[in-house]
Formats: sequence, structure tokens, C-alpha cells
Amino acid sequence: MKVLLLGTGAADGWPQPFCRCASCVHARSEGNVRARSGVLVDECVLIDPSPDVTVSAALAGVSLDRVTTILIGHSHFDHLDPSVFLAREWIIPRGELGPLVVHGPASALEQIRPWINPDRLSSGDIGLHEVVMGADITLPSGHSARALPAEHGLGANGWPTSRQHSESAHEAVHEAVREAVSEAVLWEVTSTHGQRLLHATDTGPLPSSTRALMRPLDVLLVEETFGDTLDHGTAHLDLATLPHLLSELRGESIVHDQTEIVAIHLSHHNPAEPELVRRLAAWGARPGRDREVITVGTSAEPCVPQPRRVLVTGGARSGKSREAEHLVASHAKVTYVATAAPREDDAEWDDRVAVHRERRPATWTTIETADLVSVVATASDHDAVLIDCLTLWATRIIDESDTWDTPSQARAVVRDRARDLASALAHTSGTIVLVTNEVGSGIMPVNAAARLFADVLGDVNAIISRECDEVLLAVAGRVIPVHSARSALEPSHQESLS
Ligand SMILES: [Zn+2]
Ligand SMILES: [Zn+2]
Ligand SMILES: [Zn+2]
Repeated sequence: MKVLLLGTGAADGWPQPFCRCASCVHARSEGNVRARSGVLVDECVLIDPSPDVTVSAALAGVSLDRVTTILIGHSHFDHLDPSVFLAREWIIPRGELGPLVVHGPASALEQIRPWINPDRLSSGDIGLHEVVMGADITLPSGHSARALPAEHGLGANGWPTSRQHSESAHEAVHEAVREAVSEAVLWEVTSTHGQRLLHATDTGPLPSSTRALMRPLDVLLVEETFGDTLDHGTAHLDLATLPHLLSELRGESIVHDQTEIVAIHLSHHNPAEPELVRRLAAWGARPGRDREVITVGTSAEPCVPQPRRVLVTGGARSGKSREAEHLVASHAKVTYVATAAPREDDAEWDDRVAVHRERRPATWTTIETADLVSVVATASDHDAVLIDCLTLWATRIIDESDTWDTPSQARAVVRDRARDLASALAHTSGTIVLVTNEVGSGIMPVNAAARLFADVLGDVNAIISRECDEVLLAVAGRVIPVHSARSALEPSHQESLS
């Protein structure tokens, strides 16, 4: 199966034509332009005839003359431009094109009908077929297709209901939009060799009733419209809801280690591409690029979340815990390890703990322990463990060994425990993310306990860091890679090693 991405941008494309935000400026400076929706499968199945597919196909150097099926997700303008059908009509008098079948929701078919010669419809030369959810359709090319219900209804604050328009024409447009979203579908396409793709846009998180109709995938093209803008109030995915969906799909084996996960329908609400690539890699995904070709089944490496052992360090409120939570968010099974010793009669502490707990998905298992070696040693292949944090762990060890007044003894005790943990990390097959604090910068504290603590944590961070594939420094809500085993193994480096 060969999948050509004709457009990986959202309704307004990326860069947004009227915008100068950092994300748009970066995309423009790189010439990285994303057109609106459109996917061509094996040259013969076109998903979403958007306003940009004709130009995108030309830029990709392909002709659409072999297309025998057009699948439409819904009738929003960025997924359906009926003039694409007129362009095809204009070639027909020359008799060069055969029959065409079109499958889509009723509101989409109604938009197309006026653009097609009625004779072509009555002769059956062009067939317009309304979707039946969950039914398998055999296409003229031998592929089979299945429509699944999308979650594309409008949220309470969503476009366009929040906008006030008095003109009846605008009302009519809004009405059409509402109809379209109520019957939006995702398209699953299976090749004659059994390779399977899901085109999952535009949708919010998928209910279990939709997931029940899904089968294991070779390629998941999944929307990621809103990036870090989480208050969009629309039925789309963002960088908080996408990993949760992936976690559910992994748990149900719809997404597995060989599934290529490609984010599409991208907008400027996303961070600039290098940061987006880094964020998606943690979930075994990547952003799609316009005009790239995905050849299904040839991926040399399993598509699994990367990297496996990560130390996230940073100051207070630097964004380190949030980054750590993000890194494990797409795993099917996550264990959250709270290392702090219980504190009696400390309301402020209880509040802090409660805030962190509320932010964590309900599906995560929380355990409270200082025995990190056992947790790490027993984590298996698909497990993710988030340890938050080494700072409180070290405090607890000094408390329990009662060594605050004997600094050299305290350092020796904690170092021993850190070495045991490092050795467990070296041998684990799970994904382990550890949070710690960067406390050694600034002026040397006058307080002896504070000096001891800075020394102890410096030791712990250095020992654990040596066994991590990646070390990240969080600062001002951003993340700087301090060390990455991946960059050390880039192809040029590997060649020089061999
Ligand atoms: Zn859209
Ligand atoms: Zn922008
Ligand atoms: Zn839409």
C-alpha cells in the first residue's frame, strides 16, 4: 500500500495565511507549507477532495486520472470542494476516464450533485453512495473501505455557534456546518494484501462504540489540530487528548508496535516543527509532511514511543513534571510512583499532592514507595513508569537513615541506593521517566542541611543520568535536551563506528 499525503494542514493551512505567530514564522522560513486535507491511496482511492488536492497532486507530480473511488469524511469546506468533481467532468468528453464511485455522508453528496452532469449520474458512470456506519464496502480497485463515526460535534464554545451572525445566508452556512458534523466519518481502507490505514480526521476523542468497530492498523493518520491550545472547545484533538487516545488504542491492540502513527490536519496552534517532532516522538508518532509517500510495511524499525529511560531535571515550576507526564502519556499502562514519605498535619503539602493527582489520567496506577529498584526491575516491555521525584526519594533516605547530622555518611548511603537504582535502570525493559530537581545552582547555602542536600542530589542526578537514554532540562516551561543517546547514534556517527 502506497499512501501519498496531499495535504497535512487544518482548515486554514499551516502557516496560517494571516498570522505572524512563532509557529507560522518558523513554517514560512522553512518553506514548510501544509495544504488542506487529502490522501491518495495506491493512486486509485482519494480520501477528501479538498480545495488544495488538485494543486497538491500536481506539485507531487502525480495525476488523479487513475482514481476510481473518492471517500469523503464530511462536508466541511477543507475536506470537500465540489469543484474537484467539475474539473474531472471537463476531461470526460475525451472519454479518458472510467466510472467513479463516491462514498460519503448525505450532506456531502448533496453538495457534489450539482457539479456533476446528470447524465453521468443516471447512467451510473458516477455513483454517489451514502455511508453506512461500520459496513465493509468493496471498491472497484479491490480495496475495501469501512466508515466509522467521528466525534465532530461542536463544543459549547466551538466555532461557529459562538459567533453572532444575523444574516440569513450566514445562518444557512452554519446550519450546513452543524449537519456536516453530525454525520462526519473516519475512513478505514484495507488493501488486497490486508494492509490497513485509518484516516482519522476531523474528530475529538473516540468513544468506545467507535473503537469497537476498529481493527489493528498498519497506518494511523490521526488529526492533531490544536497543539497546546487546550481551551478550543471544539471536537478536535490536541496535544493533551491525542496521547490519551493513543493509549486507549494501544490498550485495545488497534495500535501496535508496527503501526505507523502520522499526525495530520495540523494547524499553527502546534509548536514549531522541531518541537512538535520531539513531542510526538515520545508517543511513537510524527507529523506528516505534504507530498510525503508512506510505503506501508517497509518501516525498518518498530514505531514505539522513544526514548525509554529519561531523566527530567529542572527548578521549581520549570515544567519538569508536566514534561515527564507528557512522555509517558501514550502508553497503555502507566504506573505513577510517588516517592514522598507521608506527612502528617501538613495541609499545604496535601494540596500540592492533590493538584498533581488531579492532573493525572484516572487510568494510571499510583503507588507510594521508596523501593524504586523493585518497581524498575519488574517493569515489562510495554509498561511505563513515572517516578516523581528523586528529590523526595533522597530526602526520605536521609530521614530514614537518620544521617542529616553526619553528611559524609548521608552521601554514602544515598549514593549506594542511587547506584542500585542505576543498575536496575540498565537492565529494565520498561519505559522509565524520572523527575529530579536542579538545586545546585546559585549561592552556596549558609544552612548545613541545605548544603548537604545540594551535594546529595548532585550525586544522585549524576549517577542516574549515566544510565539514561535521554536527559532533559526544563526551564521556563521549555525543554532542553542535555543528552540524547539517539543523536549519538545518528547514521553518520554509526558509519564512522563501523
Ligand atoms: Zn477539517
Ligand atoms: Zn500562526
Ligand atoms: Zn470539520
